[in-house]
Amino acid sequence: MLGILRSIVQEVNSARDLNEALAIIVSRVQKAMGTEVCSVYLLDPTSNRYILMATEGLYKDAVGNVSLAHSEGLVGLVGSREEPINLEDAPSHPRYRYFPETGEERFSSFLGVPIIHHRAVLGVLVVQQRENSRCFDEGEEAFLVTISAQLAGVIAHSEATGAISGLSLTGEEAHDVCFNGVPGAPGVAIGTGTVVYPSADLDVVPDKPADDIDRELELFWSAVQAVKEDIERVANRLASQLRPEEQALFDVYLRMLDESALPGEVVSKIQEGIWAQGALKQVIQQYIRHFELMDDLYLQERVVDIRDLGRRLLSHMQEGEQKHLEYPERTVLVSEELTPAMLGEVPKGQLVGLVSVKGSSNSHVAILARAMGVPTVMGLVDIPVNQLGGRELVVDGFEGQIFASPSADLRAFYQAICEEEDELFRGLEELRDKPCETLDGHRVPLLVNTGLMTDVVRSLSHGAEGIGLYRTEVPFMIKDRFPSEQEQREYYREQLEAFAPNPVTMRTLDIGGDKALTYFPIQEENPFLGWRGIRVTLDHPEIFLLQVRAMLKASEGLNNLQIMLPMISNVSEVEESLHLIYRVYHEVREEGYDVHMPKVGVMIEVPGAVYQIRELADRVDFVSVGSNDLTQYLLAVDRNNPRVAQLYHSYHPAVLQALVRIAQDTHAVGKPVGICGELAGDPGGALLLMAMGYDSLSMNAASLPKVKSVIRSVDREWAVQLLQDVLLLDSPHVIKSCVDLALRNAGFGRYLRPVKTPVCEPAAL
Ligand code: PEP
Ligand code: MG
Repeated sequence: MLGILRSIVQEVNSARDLNEALAIIVSRVQKAMGTEVCSVYLLDPTSNRYILMATEGLYKDAVGNVSLAHSEGLVGLVGSREEPINLEDAPSHPRYRYFPETGEERFSSFLGVPIIHHRAVLGVLVVQQRENSRCFDEGEEAFLVTISAQLAGVIAHSEATGAISGLSLTGEEAHDVCFNGVPGAPGVAIGTGTVVYPSADLDVVPDKPADDIDRELELFWSAVQAVKEDIERVANRLASQLRPEEQALFDVYLRMLDESALPGEVVSKIQEGIWAQGALKQVIQQYIRHFELMDDLYLQERVVDIRDLGRRLLSHMQEGEQKHLEYPERTVLVSEELTPAMLGEVPKGQLVGLVSVKGSSNSHVAILARAMGVPTVMGLVDIPVNQLGGRELVVDGFEGQIFASPSADLRAFYQAICEEEDELFRGLEELRDKPCETLDGHRVPLLVNTGLMTDVVRSLSHGAEGIGLYRTEVPFMIKDRFPSEQEQREYYREQLEAFAPNPVTMRTLDIGGDKALTYFPIQEENPFLGWRGIRVTLDHPEIFLLQVRAMLKASEGLNNLQIMLPMISNVSEVEESLHLIYRVYHEVREEGYDVHMPKVGVMIEVPGAVYQIRELADRVDFVSVGSNDLTQYLLAVDRNNPRVAQLYHSYHPAVLQALVRIAQDTHAVGKPVGICGELAGDPGGALLLMAMGYDSLSMNAASLPKVKSVIRSVDREWAVQLLQDVLLLDSPHVIKSCVDLALRNAGFGRYLRPVKTPVCEPAAL
């Protein structure tokens, strides 16, 4: 069974569109189960009806013409109960519905299973059998359930692809096709999708038709010519070091590039109407499969050469393609995996939004996007990337969603948000030099989280009172080796100088989890529970010591440095780190630098640390909560996984209780407590944190003006009452609604998203 299942899934996966995928499903399942009928009904979200989309065994004319209301017939019953229904005598069931167009009366056994993807019922898969012949047994039911579960994702993907091309299941125009990811950078953008592909990766080249066959041929031939020249150049360079028989290897390459060999095959595919990169991918993959099956070891080895040749040709074609790429006035850059270099290609002033299938809120691109203020969505599920080029897209970087082909209503809705945001910032500028204090005089310093120097510039213009979190891994991530002490010193000095005499809190290198350094790869089964943060740097004291040395030297004469330790889960980690920091401090002073011992703090990001706050806080000067990680670990929800994004809730009662406890216990030992996770930048979250007694809030520069204006407009007592009310509630959603309502009543409705966000069509999820 497993073999059959696998081959069906493989075949369906390679289908060109939804109809082909469904046709394969019905014919393969009918054969595999030896039944007379197999049909797929899909739920059309627009009409809310199940439409017969494909069948093997019923009259083909019925396809597309027979449909059932949401709760009509046995199909509707399977969908609404969300479980299989297996009947020996279907016509005698009270919910049986007869459609003469299908020829269905001849069949009596019925087995229907729902097709469910991410909780949404996409449709129903049905098999039927003639009278008196059989009742489907448990094994068959299990087979159909398995196949339906496996195919749901593929169906969702093809459906979304069709919808993006403007077609709903009924053939009517589709709009507002929604895809969920995770927020990368806040803000909303409306623009035109421009798809860019990672360079020289044949596996991700999409299959698509050629727009202009002659141009594709020209592109291909100039790539062949360029690769020939490359190879000849390499061969000449190595001529003196290689023996003649080794030189012959290059002749093999060149022969493969003869007109009649590989290029000939690519050209005929282009002439059939495939774009050049896709044609090259198909031919190279064909060659690779062919050579891999050969018994001869020498020929098997040639796979490497073919792959290399393919990569070289592709790389030249992409260069040619890039030259032809025209960026629209309002470009939303879309890619499987965006790189900072791709951003740099877009002409100045034309980049409005970013969409990356891979990556998380900690990827380089997201860091850069936040610094540049470009709304970004990362980690999108089930998105047909190559369908997004040239389409109008809405990027919602607050919620981590994108919409393709927006309807006039949806566009107007987001347009209004964009305008409100602009207006808000214009009005908030005057707040820049005013203190952040409540109406009854309670002061809460607002600090910023930085990584790049661009963040610093934006922060100063937004009136930040210091840096609450400088993510030092950012300068490490944008290099191709560890930065030297001198280089680090320069980065750190810039940050310290920009805010002096206000405090600048530098976190020691926090890599691991989803923060990777290309030159220091960490491969782990379970990276978020593995070697990350302080665990890495204590195991590599040479990295830690050098970093602290650079920080201390950079602080000379400014004395506004604070050092913060990430991912602390044990008292011993704090003690070891302190020991190393003292050691560096004495060494640096001995070297003649007139530096002060910086304040040292711990980040509370691990649930275990919440229960040891007093012991931890006792040993350091301050505590800062990393609520992003703390929430992820408390709720066991990966903060970058869009599949569970709806479970990641900063207003979860357990998170709030932990935050209260951290503030109380830190204060109990007489130390200050701040917070630097995203919750601090959420106006409602900031109010609750202030009420809990947090001494400072550190956030993205973009959130700072909003938070300041909310805090300046309320009494602390009012916020304390709100906190007391929400601490009695047990549901994150109810707590969020309660906080939103309070903000609305206080006149801050404009800082909230509308109660009803636009509908995400479940069929496209
Ligand atoms: C956090 O975890 O809340 C935090 C601020 O650190 P980072 O987001 O860099 O992991
Ligand atoms: Mg963290």
